[in-house]
Amino acid sequence: MGKFDYLIVGAGLFGATIAYRAKTIGKKCLIIDKRLHIGGNIYTENISGINVHKYGAHIFHTSNKKVWDFVNSFVEFNRYTNAPIANYKGRLYNLPFNMNTFYQMWGVTTPIEAMNIIERQRSGVISEPRNLEEQAISLVGKDIYDILVKGYTEKQWGRKAIELPAFIIKRLPIRFTFDNNYFNDKYQGIPVGGYTNLIAKMLEGTEVRLNTDYFENREYFNSLADKIIFTGEIDKYFDYQFGHLEYRTVSFDTKLLEGVSNYQGNAVINYTDGDTPYTRIIEHKHFEFGQQPDTVISKEYSTEWRPGKEPYYPVNDERNNKLYNKYAVLAKGKPKVIFGGRLAEYKYYDMHQVIEAALTICL
Ligand code: FAD
Repeated sequence: MGKFDYLIVGAGLFGATIAYRAKTIGKKCLIIDKRLHIGGNIYTENISGINVHKYGAHIFHTSNKKVWDFVNSFVEFNRYTNAPIANYKGRLYNLPFNMNTFYQMWGVTTPIEAMNIIERQRSGVISEPRNLEEQAISLVGKDIYDILVKGYTEKQWGRKAIELPAFIIKRLPIRFTFDNNYFNDKYQGIPVGGYTNLIAKMLEGTEVRLNTDYFENREYFNSLADKIIFTGEIDKYFDYQFGHLEYRTVSFDTKLLEGVSNYQGNAVINYTDGDTPYTRIIEHKHFEFGQQPDTVISKEYSTEWRPGKEPYYPVNDERNNKLYNKYAVLAKGKPKVIFGGRLAEYKYYDMHQVIEAALTICL
């Protein structure tokens, strides 16, 4: 039994970044994951030559040059730009809301015409929105809300927009230029060969044990290393003593379509009406401009989370944040353990933010 400087629980992006950093300063790490693969939620699986984003579409974007240089030191990134499309009852609209969308919606060709329509539709809404519907209309007007926001949001949350609190939508970015680029960041792309390749490169030279759950033999794993980096669920670490943190979850219906070379012509199409049961369809090959004879698509459904289901998005409302803060106090009392990443910090983190956080941890 070897002695390690660090035991890292979780072979996702946070754990892999720490493992790489520790290796470069001569520390010995063991990284374990309960799943059968590395990569955590950014894992991509090769199906028929296509890198399939198994836990949902992942587009890397950042304005932080240090983070961009860091990921590019392992693998090459392609020029993919996220430009999703909305399908509302068979009609297509560009996202995010921009001049292309306004032309498709109202036939307007100039920013001033679009601004006037939105301004007219926003005015008259009460100044203190009482729910998500009022909040969204006050931000973008009635047409955009009805066609592009309402159905999608209700499917995501499994509740009517008038029953949802206003704070869920703080901003709905509107652009008065013909620009379909979803992100405003300086750098954007997808790792050539998939995200698993990126994580594998980061973990080169580190011992990895898969199909290994920390909680199944906690004492043994604790005895293996001087320090622990824990990237799993913080409430589980403390045996749910204050109760369960809640998540929103998604599920995917993934299909290989043999002989179909191009199913929808775009990586991401959102279904914004309330009747279509899924929220979006991902066609994975378009993330890497694939030319394969087949294609793989995933229909994404929002589903109700229950304890035991895969946790995806933290629900950072008042109740859950209070609960998390109680666990965070317990975490402070564990100097041997560093709690990091989306599950241990109960935080919605984009990939670049996970890396930023993992690069600033003092090892
Ligand atoms: P994870 O990837 O969850 O890794 C944690 C790992 O710990 C898991 O592999 C888990 O199996 C393991 N683990 C947990 N408990 C134990 C245990 N007891 N024993 C052993 N192992 C354990 N970000 C972007 O920047 N762009 C996007 O387009 C984007 N799209 C997203 C789409 C979806 C649907 C979701 C849910 C997230 C998206 N993200 C996106 C966010 C991105 O997925 C996260 O930032 C990132 O994966 C977090 O990495 P992590 O290491 O913190 O967590």
